[in-house]
Amino acid sequence: MISVTKLLFAREYFGDSLRYTKNAHAMRNGAAEGVGPVVVWNSTKTCNLRCMHCYMQSDARKYQDELSTEEAKRFIDDLADFHVPVLLFSGGEPLIRPDFFELAAYAQEKGVRPTLSTNGTLITRDVAQKIKDIGVGYVGISLDGLRDVNDKFRGVDGAYEKAMQGIKNCVAVGQRVGLRFTINHHNIQELDRIFDFIEEEGINRVCFYHLVYSGRGEQMMDQDVTPEESRRAMDTIIRRTKDFEERGLKKEILTVDNHCDGPYMYLKALEAGDRETAAQIKKYISMNGGNRSGIAFGEVDPQGYVHPDQFTQHHTFGNVRERKFGDIWQDTSNPIMAGLKDRKPLLKGRCAACKWLENCNGNFRTRAEARTGDFWASDPSCYLTDEEIGVTEEQV
Ligand code: SF4
Repeated sequence: MISVTKLLFAREYFGDSLRYTKNAHAMRNGAAEGVGPVVVWNSTKTCNLRCMHCYMQSDARKYQDELSTEEAKRFIDDLADFHVPVLLFSGGEPLIRPDFFELAAYAQEKGVRPTLSTNGTLITRDVAQKIKDIGVGYVGISLDGLRDVNDKFRGVDGAYEKAMQGIKNCVAVGQRVGLRFTINHHNIQELDRIFDFIEEEGINRVCFYHLVYSGRGEQMMDQDVTPEESRRAMDTIIRRTKDFEERGLKKEILTVDNHCDGPYMYLKALEAGDRETAAQIKKYISMNGGNRSGIAFGEVDPQGYVHPDQFTQHHTFGNVRERKFGDIWQDTSNPIMAGLKDRKPLLKGRCAACKWLENCNGNFRTRAEARTGDFWASDPSCYLTDEEIGVTEEQV
């Protein structure tokens, strides 16, 4: 995750202390001093929508053998013992779990800050108030375009209106809320309108996700944006973030799942002759260290299996029903887990030779694996040119 706002304006927002810290590199072995990884818990596979790019391949039916309330509480105890700072409840649709409020409150009580990733369609005013009362740190609502574009993506007519109501209900009760927007070939033309939209609706945060080819999203590999489109998308994101800042609007803008965005921002600042901003960007991307799947970021699926991130569920390291999360996380007997914790010697192609490797860490491995079959190949969504990454044709 890259905070465009932080890189450009050095502003401090919620969560930045985890992304831009001297500890980022120290977390290589699973936990820096007193800080475990941020954990996503896909708490259920059931969902009331059927999104085209869903990495969980969720739909509206009941799935068997998901963690019970008691098992989930034991798992949260493990996270607290391992100093996990944030537990992101995700799905499927996490609000479908009848025990969501009980478990979020339990995490809060244990000192593991609960946050929520949701499609927003079930957030009535009462639900928003309960979320706020529990102390959920942040609610991220997925929207992949405006109106029909979103509904086509989400697979259900009316999903946009309901998600909009969910956002408004969060804003009305003072709950921190933001948008999650996954960029792809079908919605890239909506980017400017999304910026207009968050301004009109008083939304203060938006995360622009790059597509990762996993679950149903794997079928969208050929509908991903081209390198040229990625660059144009980043140009729009940078331009509109600056515009908010110039007009005194305090909006936090982030990009997710493509760490070449950081070097791209640095190169754009240099190209514009803004050496001061370029130096600031360099400082922050160096502190962050790039992709941290399997290091400072992990995922647990509905049945308790541990994975390096939510898109990489085909690589499993153990189950929290059998072992404590912290023990699984520090066990490097699995070659993928060991490799992720020290991946540079394993990377191939452009990533291996890239001068931004310290700042990007080889980007998203699952995307490389989906495209090539090789977990350690170059990330195919890197849109920087050979010249920009400092390699020659012979090196790749
Ligand atoms: S070549 Fe690889 S390591 Fe370098 S910026 Fe691109 S994705 Fe990152």
